[in-house]
Amino acid sequence: MSRIKAEYLWLDGCKPTAKLRSKTKILEGAVSRLEDIPVWGFDGSSTEQAVGHASDCLLQPVHFVPDPIRGGEHILVMCEVLTAEGMPHVSNTRARLRQEATRTAPQEPWFGIEQEYTMIKNGKPLGWPADGYPRPQGDFYCGVGSEMVSGRPLVEAHMEACLKAGLKIAGVNAEVMLGQWEFQIGPVPPLRVGDELWIARWLLLRLGEDMGIDISLAPKPVAGDWNGTGAHTNFSTRAMRDSGGLTTVDTACRALSTAHEKHIAVYGAGNEARLTGKHETCSITQFRYGVSDRGASIRIPIFTAKAGCGYLEDRRPAANMDPYQVCAMLLETACK
Ligand code: ADP
Ligand code: MN
Ligand code: MN
Ligand code: MN
Repeated sequence: MSRIKAEYLWLDGCKPTAKLRSKTKILEGAVSRLEDIPVWGFDGSSTEQAVGHASDCLLQPVHFVPDPIRGGEHILVMCEVLTAEGMPHVSNTRARLRQEATRTAPQEPWFGIEQEYTMIKNGKPLGWPADGYPRPQGDFYCGVGSEMVSGRPLVEAHMEACLKAGLKIAGVNAEVMLGQWEFQIGPVPPLRVGDELWIARWLLLRLGEDMGIDISLAPKPVAGDWNGTGAHTNFSTRAMRDSGGLTTVDTACRALSTAHEKHIAVYGAGNEARLTGKHETCSITQFRYGVSDRGASIRIPIFTAKAGCGYLEDRRPAANMDPYQVCAMLLETACK
């Protein structure tokens, strides 16, 4: 029986934005069930999750996929962080989503998240001149050609890795700013979108190591007339997807209009630099929704309006948001 490498992934306690951490455990043979993956531990005093004299935190495996980089029977294991007593750690945002997902399961919620990001080299977006700026935005979005895009080898390697890991990646595209890209995960149920988005982010960071490219999820990586970086969160319930669902979409939008500040609070640190009312955003101090409106907080896609059913797009979340918190908040507000 061959011994396998299990890469345990978790979120640290850094504020205001948690970061991914991971380490490898050798297991005595291939794994086919979550229950076969042992609980593990780590030094929480090195991740802002404990103090030195009581430093043990636990890693509870909650989801695993094939490791597309190591191949073979090797796996990636998403974990929740528990205290030494086995209770959810305060940094464990997945525990709350677990509760909301259970409560709303009869409504069959789905999420699809568009993860934008910026590739960074030598402290600047990839492909930018060493001093100064590239020419103004306009032809980089979905561009082709070496003058139009930079970083495609990493995009392709990442997409391939997501497919090999069995993640529900929906597509990729070059974004408005040179060096900025997007991939989408979904539509899938809440816990799955959170787990898969975190695993996909880990794969992107990990593959970037091999190419000397860092990944920034900063909401506004370059000040000025350059697009910010978001994580549009598309959302539906069974009632919205079924015939006549547009009225349920509308009800959800009205519920969301009463909870704007609460949502913004978990939609990513530094988002105020991105949600300015320019660059296809709505100002952070306003809430608007509308059909086909890319300057609104919530966009109802034209196809949803025409078909009379479908989903809504929350355009407010920033690229550095925690999908566990964003999905939990949307379920809380929109699935009463
Ligand atoms: P945009 O036009 O905003 O760039 P994208 O194609 O990038 O749109 O992303 C739209 C996302 O919406 C898809 O990736 C998919 O995951 C998600 N989606 C599609 N249908 C649904 C649905 N019924 N519920 C939730 N999400 C959905
Ligand atoms: Mn998109
Ligand atoms: Mn986009
Ligand atoms: Mn979008």
